[in-house]
Amino acid sequence: MTGTTAPFIPPGITVRRMGADNGDGLVVDIDSNGGPAVHGIGVEPPEGASRSNGPTWGYVIEDDGVTLIDPGHLGSFGFLSDGLKTLGMAPADVDRVVVTHGHWDHDGGVAELVDASGAEFWVHELWQAYAPYSYGALLRADDSPLRAEMSRIGERHRESGPRKYGGAERERGGRERTPGGSGRDSYDSMRSGLKVDRGLVDGDRHGSIEYLHTPGHWPDEMTIRLGDLIFTGDHVLPEITPHPSMLYSHPADLAKTLPSRYQDPRDVWGLPAYLRSLRRVVELGTGLRVLPAHRLFNRGEFRMTDELRAAETISFHLDRCDVLVTAIESGDTDLESATREVFSYRPLTDSYHLMSAVSEVISHVELLEETGDVRVTAVEGDGAVGLELTGSRNYQDVIGRLIPGFESPG
Ligand SMILES: [Zn+2]
Repeated sequence: MTGTTAPFIPPGITVRRMGADNGDGLVVDIDSNGGPAVHGIGVEPPEGASRSNGPTWGYVIEDDGVTLIDPGHLGSFGFLSDGLKTLGMAPADVDRVVVTHGHWDHDGGVAELVDASGAEFWVHELWQAYAPYSYGALLRADDSPLRAEMSRIGERHRESGPRKYGGAERERGGRERTPGGSGRDSYDSMRSGLKVDRGLVDGDRHGSIEYLHTPGHWPDEMTIRLGDLIFTGDHVLPEITPHPSMLYSHPADLAKTLPSRYQDPRDVWGLPAYLRSLRRVVELGTGLRVLPAHRLFNRGEFRMTDELRAAETISFHLDRCDVLVTAIESGDTDLESATREVFSYRPLTDSYHLMSAVSEVISHVELLEETGDVRVTAVEGDGAVGLELTGSRNYQDVIGRLIPGFESPG
């Protein structure tokens, strides 16, 4: 703790070991209201990984053996086992490791933990279907004009800024960067080499734990419920709004390998799917305690939220659609200038942040196309796409309906 004042400890939290101001190394017990013992560990990212979201919070549930949710990055194992030690446990005590979704700051640490503990690996069945593919291969949406435009923007800004925007990052276009260079190769091979012991589907239960499929930030994302505690991974986060995925057009060869119930990408990819999954969290009940994979503790304070944080996140995207529509209306009709207008509060000087922002705006354009409010048109000559308003504002009702207490502006 570098702060001068001790943090307020919320009811139901007991600090076992204080950590850094961003939560690195912090270890807590979480009261489950008479349910099984639950603990949280702020697992620090390894040297060289992005630290902007702070640690990955791994959670331990002692119910029919020991379940560990989200071991963190590849290379974080030392930090994880150190946290377990604070709890009086060793990696060998872990019976099963579960990951909320297939992003490297969540599933990167699975192999090291499984090797050290002999634990089983449980994950949503879509994770398993996607595991053989690198992010680049997974997001190869060749037939999307918006994605082709995104690649052109990437080419134009390839060398700009302090961080070069490399191949896999460009293809993936998410906010969280893959580990660079050889780090990415070892992550990809770790992932494709993992044996899944149980592929989970929506509604699966084990002891008092329930697994819900809440896709959209990523297609295999799960929200895990234990009484009034919800382990939300990156689906619902305090302080920040998770990056929605873009609607994905499966390359035909890849789509064939997916279980039949996931053949329609709109069910699991993109902003509309994400918003529906947020609504699902709102409907889970009242007074739920969110245990997120990031920002449980930040800037020296616990950041406790409840299910209404999911409603706030829906509202955020409604506002962002308003801003995008206004930008298009005032003449920002190409993807890059619309993106710069929507993110006018951020400089977007390096290509990584620019491409992250572009991918987020694409997810909003896709939603507005689906609601019939925006048309994506081909621009004469260079193959670029133009954004055109149709005059309707259907998105306001479509998104508004998902927000409790929302009153239509119409
Ligand atoms: Zn994620």
